[in-house]
Amino acid sequence: MQVLVLGAGLAGLSCAYELVKAGHKVTVIEKEDYAGGMAHSYTVGEHVVDHGPHRFHSRDKELLAHVHEVMDNDLVVRDRLSRIYLKGRFFHYPLQAGNVLRNLPPHILIKAFWDYLWIRFKDRMNPIPDDNFENWVTKRFGKTLYDIFFGMYTEKAWHMPCSQISADWASQRISQLNLWDAVKKTLRPPKGGEVRSLVSKFWYPRVGGIGQLGRNYAKKICEMGGEVLLKTPVEKLIRDGERITSVIYTRDGQRVVDHPDYVVSTIPLPRLLEAMEPLPPEDVLASIGKLRYLSIIFVYLEVNRPIVTPDHWVYLPEKHLKVHRISEFKNFSEETGPKDRTVICAEITCVPGDETWNMSLEDASEIAARDLEKIGLLKQGESKGIFLTRVRYAYPVYDLTYKENLQRLLRFVKPFENLDTTGRQGLYRYNNMDHSLAMGRKLARGLIRGDDAGAHDVATGKEYFG
Ligand SMILES: Cc1cc2nc3c(=O)[nH]c(=O)nc-3n(C[C@H](O)[C@H](O)[C@H](O)COP(=O)(O)OP(=O)(O)OC[C@H]3O[C@@H](n4cnc5c(N)ncnc54)[C@H](O)[C@@H]3O)c2cc1C
Repeated sequence: MQVLVLGAGLAGLSCAYELVKAGHKVTVIEKEDYAGGMAHSYTVGEHVVDHGPHRFHSRDKELLAHVHEVMDNDLVVRDRLSRIYLKGRFFHYPLQAGNVLRNLPPHILIKAFWDYLWIRFKDRMNPIPDDNFENWVTKRFGKTLYDIFFGMYTEKAWHMPCSQISADWASQRISQLNLWDAVKKTLRPPKGGEVRSLVSKFWYPRVGGIGQLGRNYAKKICEMGGEVLLKTPVEKLIRDGERITSVIYTRDGQRVVDHPDYVVSTIPLPRLLEAMEPLPPEDVLASIGKLRYLSIIFVYLEVNRPIVTPDHWVYLPEKHLKVHRISEFKNFSEETGPKDRTVICAEITCVPGDETWNMSLEDASEIAARDLEKIGLLKQGESKGIFLTRVRYAYPVYDLTYKENLQRLLRFVKPFENLDTTGRQGLYRYNNMDHSLAMGRKLARGLIRGDDAGAHDVATGKEYFG
């Protein structure tokens, strides 16, 4: 079978890898000049930097073994440290009861405890629906802790009220089930096998940043006889009813018309459908217009010090700071930079085309440096902006209507006999790297065996994504 894979992110690459290994003829086309998608790394001077923090973890032993195989075992294992910086103090994230008790002033602790009891009582008398992020969290943690640890950060990063965000996002991104669960997990930490455990260990390439995974995949696909064509954007998919008859893409400035037996798409689902000729029906196009994305600019500051924080990343929920998260790659692998210097990556979410999105390296570096000076992590003039990059499709926006709009798009794609869509972009799913790998590999297995291997069911449960 001749398969054309659209997009060389981890979903597309892992799918192509399995298909080539099974003897199929596979071509991956990618619009950027690198493979790896969002999990890409850049070399900037002597530093290797990622699109924000990328820690790989999975409870699936077979998937872990596969990643070790692709990486030729050249991985390091790390213990996660991520914290929230708030009112001059660092709080562990996921929350740890002891750390919260030590750091919050007594009057706020009393208020938080009282609020929690009150909301539990209210919920018992008249159940509060899990119909949005705010209700989901408030019901489980009380209003005070919601305001301090969840609401403030989420509203800042998402640029929208939490009452307008789907509860799906909370259930997959908050590791504890409720305040009592947080207390219990602190007193008796869960063992590795527990479903909703605090994922504390992760793997990271020893050299080359997280992008080394994508580069290794691409190299091995080509060694096995497949093709990974970079700087090759897909332009059109010509369809005859529910069959793709040809795919048109641009390669070295030339228009190529390909007639694959099967197309696996991992590009953003709305863009896939908009590239179809003829276009999908009006109701599908209307839903496409309602699915939104949050974008991120990443600004990288070089600091003349071996290390600035012990953290993999730190959340900055306070609204007077423009940056919402920072990360330091030397804590992922010391081989990402020279011994005497480090890089801090500052993330600022935005809407494509807005003032932040268009910011220059100079302006963004100044803002990021000022934020870090305000909280005492950097001294004035100590950092230098060395790089800026943007990710347009960073987060699918889970608003209150996203599910019905998404379902309309997926219902349209499902009957196609030689097209499937997968991965974070292909399914408009807020998932992690391990999920994209599992999706790509399961889709490949399904094609090889001729049955449904469950690619669409990955990352749909209530498990914690970390
Ligand atoms: C800031 C940030 C931090 C993250 N941190 C973590 C983490 O700590 N741990 C974790 O597990 N996950 C993390 N993730 C998620 C992880 O990056 C993704 O789940 C994963 O990389 C998605 O892979 P994918 O192949 O599904 O999608 P992508 O990587 O988006 O791949 C899609 C590919 O399609 C290409 N494409 C798009 N349009 C076209 C076109 N017209 N023609 C050809 N190609 C096209 C794109 O260029 C891209 O390469 C993070 C994500 C972000 C944004």
